[in-house]
Amino acid sequence: CYYHLSIIFTLKSQFCIFFYGISRLLLLLFYICFSEMPLTDVLSTLGDNPYFGAGFGLFGIGLGAALLRKGASTGLVLFRRNFMMTLEVPCRDKSYQWVLLWVTQKAARRTQHLSVETTFEQMDTGRVNTTYHFLPSIGVHLIEYNGKYIQVTRTREQQSLDLHAGVPWENVVLTAFGTNKSLFTNILEEARQMALKTMEGRTIVYTALGSEWRPFGHPQKPRPLSSVVLDEGVSERILKDIQKFIAKPYWYIERGIPYRRGYLLHGPPGCGKTSFIKALAGELQYGVCLLNLSERGLTDDRLNYLMTAAPQSTIILLEDVDAAFGGRHESKQVATAYEGLSRVTLSGLLNALDGAASSEARILFMTTNYIDRLDAALIRPGRVDLKEYIGHCSQSQIERMYHRFFLDNNDNEQRAKEFAEIVIKTGKPVSAAQIQGYFMLVEEYSHNEIIQNHQRIWESK
Ligand code: ADP
Repeated sequence: CYYHLSIIFTLKSQFCIFFYGISRLLLLLFYICFSEMPLTDVLSTLGDNPYFGAGFGLFGIGLGAALLRKGASTGLVLFRRNFMMTLEVPCRDKSYQWVLLWVTQKAARRTQHLSVETTFEQMDTGRVNTTYHFLPSIGVHLIEYNGKYIQVTRTREQQSLDLHAGVPWENVVLTAFGTNKSLFTNILEEARQMALKTMEGRTIVYTALGSEWRPFGHPQKPRPLSSVVLDEGVSERILKDIQKFIAKPYWYIERGIPYRRGYLLHGPPGCGKTSFIKALAGELQYGVCLLNLSERGLTDDRLNYLMTAAPQSTIILLEDVDAAFGGRHESKQVATAYEGLSRVTLSGLLNALDGAASSEARILFMTTNYIDRLDAALIRPGRVDLKEYIGHCSQSQIERMYHRFFLDNNDNEQRAKEFAEIVIKTGKPVSAAQIQGYFMLVEEYSHNEIIQNHQRIWESK
């Protein structure tokens, strides 16, 4: 019984059996030193003693097991070091999202363990589409890639945060057999191509997270530029100017002029400033970097850095620049208390616009509802090269909006005119957003009903 218990005990703890063995050895030495028997007799007596034999046996087993375990772990380390390779992709790296997408394409179809990312997309008609994107969950996944097995380990550390994004730190580790690191280069390149393909013809909207630009949601299908109906010639003027700018980098470089261009769209709310810029980005196949200057925590330094670190082929959009300094509803004391600490100052913005650190190829759009509230220094040439007023609807604008909305009517020409005349006759300024809202309300109606309803609905607005 003692013998068997000892074995169980040994297998559980080599440390105890080691001391057990040592104690047996000491006992043997003690026996040899103080016994009056000759040494051979002592040894044969001990050999016949089952307890003593078991003790030595256990000592041997424990020692053997310890050595085996140590050998196995050292062997594994050596094997991993010499015959395997790993690639760690931390969540802060640009390729992280690409690699996740790649793993999703390769593994998420087969794996049963997924995590979900839900996005909402608002259509022009106001309907909201919900899409679920499945990603491989936190844990280990196995992928076969070009005949090789790759282990993908996605981990999330609850204790440490990505300070820039304020989300738990995550990373993906790819492990593969072999030493040829080009395997990882190929995977990263494939992941990049895959990501570019899904974004083809789509606009990526970036927002500032800490001092970095991060894609916000999934790439959006851009609305056609023609769907944003502006007054005669405005859209064409801006498009022509920006296309000329993009096509002529050398013109700027040869003349030593910084390769950047600033635009200011001003006018009442709901007239299409933001929609136009987004549609324009889609037309040019550019992304949009959205920045809210009145965001708490956006300091001059951060703004400066963000302006220089905008991703390639993007338009930087600063909305409501008039509301950035001091805030519309903020007392002067509060504004002064926060100045420079957690919000942007005018001089900080001017610095960011044309300071030494500005990146060379930059397209910047600013929007405001109140141009008269802007400091003259902010909109001087060089900082703002083209200003356009995006105002309330003109008659021709309303006609074109009617055309776009009620595409399938034969008599549109006449009807659009009739509708536009009625709206203009009310004498009230009307924004394109209001017209759009009205059309959505009466979408199902006949033209006569639209005209009849118009007066009633308009007045109730
Ligand atoms: P702003 O930036 O001038 O406040 P938005 O671009 O945010 O206006 O427009 C608000 C809504 O009104 C959007 O849904 C957009 O589709 C619609 N809208 C505004 N102006 C136009 C326009 N000129 N043509 C078509 N739709 C417009």
